[in-house]
Parts: sequence; C-alpha cells; structure tokens
Amino acid sequence: MILDLRTIFVTGALTCFIIGVMQLMTFATGRFTRSPVWWGTSSLCIGAGLLGAAFRDVIPDLISIEFANTAMLAGCLLLLFGIRHFGGRELHWFGFGIVLLAVWILLSLSPGEQGYATRVIIVAVVMAFCDAAIVREAIRLGLQEKLRSAWLLVALFAPTVLVYVGRIGLGAFDRVGTTLFPRDAGANAWLAAIGVTFIILRGQALLLLAAERSNRMLATLARRDPLTGAMNRSGVEQWLDQQVRGGHRGEVRASVLLVDIDHFKALNDTRGHAAGDEILRVFAHAVRGQLRSGDILARQGGDEFAVILPGVGVREAVRVAERIRGVFKDALAEFNDLAGPPTLSIGVAESDLRTRSLDQLLAEADEALYRAKRLGRDRVQAQLKPVDA
Ligand code: GH3
Ligand code: MG
Repeated sequence: MILDLRTIFVTGALTCFIIGVMQLMTFATGRFTRSPVWWGTSSLCIGAGLLGAAFRDVIPDLISIEFANTAMLAGCLLLLFGIRHFGGRELHWFGFGIVLLAVWILLSLSPGEQGYATRVIIVAVVMAFCDAAIVREAIRLGLQEKLRSAWLLVALFAPTVLVYVGRIGLGAFDRVGTTLFPRDAGANAWLAAIGVTFIILRGQALLLLAAERSNRMLATLARRDPLTGAMNRSGVEQWLDQQVRGGHRGEVRASVLLVDIDHFKALNDTRGHAAGDEILRVFAHAVRGQLRSGDILARQGGDEFAVILPGVGVREAVRVAERIRGVFKDALAEFNDLAGPPTLSIGVAESDLRTRSLDQLLAEADEALYRAKRLGRDRVQAQLKPVDA
C-alpha cells in the first residue's frame, strides 16, 4: 500500500488542531492549572507548521520552510514549557526567543534542494532536545510526585528522541534525499503516519497527567483538616485500611498519643478565635517537625489531636510526647504577649491494630489523657493496664 505523504501531513495538522482545541477547552473547565494552555498552544503551532509544510513547493518557501519549521519547533518548545510549568519549574523565555530566531536564520541560510539535509539536521536537533528534556521532566514527575501517567509520557517521548538522532545521522551522511515529498516516500510515509498516532497519544497522556494530579489533590483535600493540615477521620480510616489490609502480615503495633491543649477555651475567650486558630496551626507545625515520615497527625476535633506512631512502643511514645510538649512550649515563646501560654496534656497507649480497633486504642489513650488533666494538666500519662500481648 502506498501512503501519500502530503495527505498524512494535512491529516496530522488537522489532528493537531483538534487536540489543541480540546486541550484549551480542558483549561476552560477550570479544573486544571494553566498547563493545558501551553499544551493547547503547542498543538496549534505544530498543526500550523505541518499544514505549512504540506504545501511545500506550492506556496512560497518563506511560509512552507522558514515559517512552517519555526512554528513546529515553537510548538515543541511550548510543549516542553508546559511540562516544566506543570512541574513548577522555571521557564526561560529568553532562550525560547533565541532558539527560534537562530532556527529561522539557519533555515533561510540553507535554501532549496541543496539545503534540505542541513534543514533536516536543524529541525531534528531541536526536536531531539525538546523530547529528551520532556522525558527528563516526566521522570522527575514520576519519581517525585509518583504520578503514573508521567511514565506514559516517558514511553511516548523517549522513542522519538532515537528517531530524531537517527535523522541527524542520516542528514550528516547526506542520506535524507533532497526534498520533503519525493516521488516514492517509502518508509518515510509510514514513519509520518506513526508520528500522527504519537501526536494523538501524547495529547491524551498530557491530559491524563493533569487529571491524575487534580484527582490526587482532591483526595488529599478530602483527607485533611483545612486549618491545620492534619488528617481528618476519613484520612485516618484510609491509612488504617492500608496498614491492616495491605502489605505484610503479622502485628501492626502502634502507639497513640491523644493530645489536648489545656485551657484552650479561655485562650479563645481572651484573645479571640483567630488567635486560637493560630495556636492550633503552631501546634500542628511543631508536632510535624517531630514525626517520622510514616507517623500520622490527626485532628480529632476542637483542640484535640491524635498522633499515631507505627512500630513504636509505649516507652518511646512517652518520650515523643514529652518532646512534643517541649517544642510546643518553645514555639509559643515567640508569642510573648500570651499571659500564661497554653500547655499540653497527653495520654499514651499502645496496641496491635490487627487485634484491637483504633477506637479501642483511642479510648485507652483518652483514659490516660483524662488522668493527665485531673493530675493538674501540662503532663504526659501512659495507659495503666498492661499492653495486650
Ligand atoms: P481543658 O484544659 O480541659 O482541655 O479545657 P479547654 O478550655 O481546652 O476545653 P475544651 O478542650 O473542652 O475546649 C475546646 C475549645 O476549643 C472549645 C471551642 O470553643 C474551641 N474550638 C474548637 N474548635 C476550634 C477551632 O477550630 N478554632 C478555635 N479557635 N477554637 C476552637
Ligand atoms: Mg482543651
């Protein structure tokens, strides 16, 4: 079967326009960040470039060569910028302008059939660079944010780096012919058709990336208390589910600290609700500084918090509790206008979460907390009953 290369270029251009409009519409829904604007604009630029190139030898070279190639490369760079923007990385607009200007000048210095191989090399160098840089950003997103769709991007952008490197090699040995549309396009036509498929898959993968992160953010918001960033009850339930059902068998020992701020109501009454809120935030920040990555800080409600320490025995947990009391005191030292700054009462309990429910463990910690309050507050108390074997 013979594929017509010009038709593939036109189809590719139209595909890019459709994907570009879809990406811009995705942004317009307001559900995602601004990155789809970059991707949409990038697709429109690549589409314009492909369309210009499709009319090579029919319209002036200035449009079908200089403009078309520069637009296509601008699209590739914008795609890279979109990914960098998505990853919260810096965008170098000066470099963007310089590269495009250099491309335009180099293209106009390599006119006609004799300049074709040089033009192929110029375009392939920039495209290989863009795709390699996108692979690098995608690997970062996959490793740091654990976004699965980032690996899809790696799979879709890494092969084309090799294709462009191959084109550079062929161009350097003058093996690319003298025109974009030879009488017999052969393998080039199939490569171009595969290229159009890649454009579609890439557009879809980018939207998946934005959707995955947005879902993740919503899930995180649903699990957190907005004031302190501590987990809420549903976050704790989910965590517990993962610990008990998933992973290794055997015990899931954990200690729980139930922490209540002393005389918090009085502070609210004298200093105002906003000051109370600030103290809650200071508390959460101070506690987080004392926890390991697998520990949990959860807000039980009001001024009561639970700290879950997996794999920590009651003795060590009491030491952590004392440390928390200390750092909270230090953090409040900055608020020198607080007459008699609030202190913490903490109850500590330990158990195996597979054999006892978290509620039972919390109830035991609550008993210890109650004792701490009764004994005069500003102290740590551990459960009295022996830990279940
Ligand atoms: P105790 O020493 O026995 O713990 O006494 P307390 O004054 O701390 O009393 P209690 O723990 O019962 O009071 C909690 C207060 O916390 C009651 C409520 O007005 C206040 N509160 C609950 N949620 C919030 C909040 O989100 N922000 C602020 N500023 N205050 C809150
Ligand atoms: Mg209290």
